[in-house]
Amino acid sequence: MTSEGDRTAAAAATADDIAAVLAERLPHPSRPGSGLDAKVLVLNKLYMAIRVISARRAFGLLVKDLAEVIHVDNGQWLNYDFQTWSELSELREAFEPETHDWVRTVRFDIAVPKVIRLHGYDRLPAQAVKLNRRNLFARDRNRCQYCGNGFPTSELSIDHVTPKSQGGEDSWTNLVCACVRCNARKGGRTPQQASMRLIRKPIRPKRNPLISIRLGHTKYETWKAFLDHAYWSVELR
Ligand SMILES: [Zn+2]
Repeated sequence: MTSEGDRTAAAAATADDIAAVLAERLPHPSRPGSGLDAKVLVLNKLYMAIRVISARRAFGLLVKDLAEVIHVDNGQWLNYDFQTWSELSELREAFEPETHDWVRTVRFDIAVPKVIRLHGYDRLPAQAVKLNRRNLFARDRNRCQYCGNGFPTSELSIDHVTPKSQGGEDSWTNLVCACVRCNARKGGRTPQQASMRLIRKPIRPKRNPLISIRLGHTKYETWKAFLDHAYWSVELR
């Protein structure tokens, strides 16, 4: 049996351990895909998905008790404070270890939660997805929208479907990713004038395309419940 005093001491030690890992004061195995780089979905107080952060930042919020872990198990979700989550992590068998990323501290390994919920944030998620380079590349999955080939970000440019010189705007429906070759070939013309075809019609994404991409990975499957939840619970006016 553990007394309340022991529990408090254990909690403090755990928080110290993880703080040390976060501050990189301790050596920890920086194996590729190390747990601290895993992605965590952040919910607001009302269980609505608001953003994705690194495990490093998520642990920072958990240690300060600004957030709690939401663990999805058999279609149900359970809330854990940081201390309980780290205790649960010690019993690796309590949940499927291979479905989680892990962070090593001095005394134990802690599972990286998939989802956390902020205690004090009840603002609604941003309705409109920001039109920026990163989100455009994510929407188009780094594929040139003319030849359909995939390229690293450095080899892609943003093309105005209807060129600016012909009145084309900076908008989700007029901007696409294009490789250097296709962009040069198209020049200052519309696709029709250049006899080129878009592989798909550019649209304004309904949700952050970076989140959509990760939804394709089984690792982040648990996010779906919350994104759907956000969809169903959004206020209609
Ligand atoms: Zn191309």
